[in-house]
Amino acid sequence: MAKPINVFKSDEEFQKCAKDWQHKLFLDNWFIEFELTTDKLYQETNLLWGYNSYSFENCSAAITVFNGEKLELDDGFGDSFSKNIAELTLVHELLHIKFEYVNDPDVIGDIAPIHQSLLHQATEAMAKSLIMTKYNLDYDYFKNNTIVRSKSSRKAV
Ligand SMILES: [Zn+2]
Repeated sequence: MAKPINVFKSDEEFQKCAKDWQHKLFLDNWFIEFELTTDKLYQETNLLWGYNSYSFENCSAAITVFNGEKLELDDGFGDSFSKNIAELTLVHELLHIKFEYVNDPDVIGDIAPIHQSLLHQATEAMAKSLIMTKYNLDYDYFKNNTIVRSKSSRKAV
């Protein structure tokens, strides 16, 4: 049975998959450039799976998706990592376009970053739900196919 794409084999495969998800998410009126990279993507010091620069007014976006095998987890031990599911990142970045504009302007001050984190968590959960639906997977698929912990980090609490 087909599985989500962990690492795209070619840009052609990626572009086709990206256009397919763009269509399924009712984003056909957006001009979106899709790009793969094996470079590490950072926002300040945080490693990212992907990012999305967009203009909501212009309905245009540039989405970059990390296409390496794995990413180190920022747990201070440096030897735990998460395996990549690049197709999940692609869906997550597209969902940002669907939801980012609903940020509540009344949510300001100390609560704003918490509000952002909760919205971001929901975005990721929805991306996983869509991947689960496309490939008929259970949630355990992500547990068993992403995070790999080293012995040393397992001992340290
Ligand atoms: Zn995100």
